[in-house]
Amino acid sequence: MTAKQPAATLLNDVRGCTLCAAHLPLGPKPILQWHPAARILIAGQAPGRKAHDAGVPFADASGERLRQWLGLTAEQFYNPQLVAILPMGFCFPGTGKSGDLPPRPECAPAWRQTLLKPLKQLQLTVVIGQYAQAYHLPTAKSSVTDTVASWQDYWPDIIPLPHPSPRNNIWLKRNPWFAEQLLPKLQARVKQVLLLKLQ
Ligand code: SF4
Repeated sequence: MTAKQPAATLLNDVRGCTLCAAHLPLGPKPILQWHPAARILIAGQAPGRKAHDAGVPFADASGERLRQWLGLTAEQFYNPQLVAILPMGFCFPGTGKSGDLPPRPECAPAWRQTLLKPLKQLQLTVVIGQYAQAYHLPTAKSSVTDTVASWQDYWPDIIPLPHPSPRNNIWLKRNPWFAEQLLPKLQARVKQVLLLKLQ
């Protein structure tokens, strides 16, 4: 964003993007939440079908679980001046044999740095799943499990998480340390960020 490009204009530009329209089964419909004042960034994967239909990020079971993990109400979560939600691909990429397809690779090079740079108040980045972790964590491990298990390496500015999808219920059962050790720390950190007095 430049001095000549106010936040609303930038957001409108993103919402009008058709860069990878040819690859999107339901057409372009960028779903993001963004404001330069945001303190928490949720860096996720790509909207699912329900979020696409609703036009609202995380308007599904994944969102309910993510809000629980963060300890945020829906009102707090959907306050763009508090939380920015920038998936690696802004449009629903379609579904493959084993779930949703990966985020479109055109999206991050086209928009990500332009949207990240103005976030000067950012205190915490929550990085969800392998695509966002590969982008935001240069030292990410080869598996999401290993990256999340190494959460203390990134603390307190960045916290890696698995995807909150119900598809990950087995992962959550296999990795009880996540709920026992990481989630309480995550919730305390989010609370701390909410209470911060910013300049
Ligand atoms: S996924 Fe990203 S690059 Fe592709 S049309 Fe949507 S906003 Fe544009």
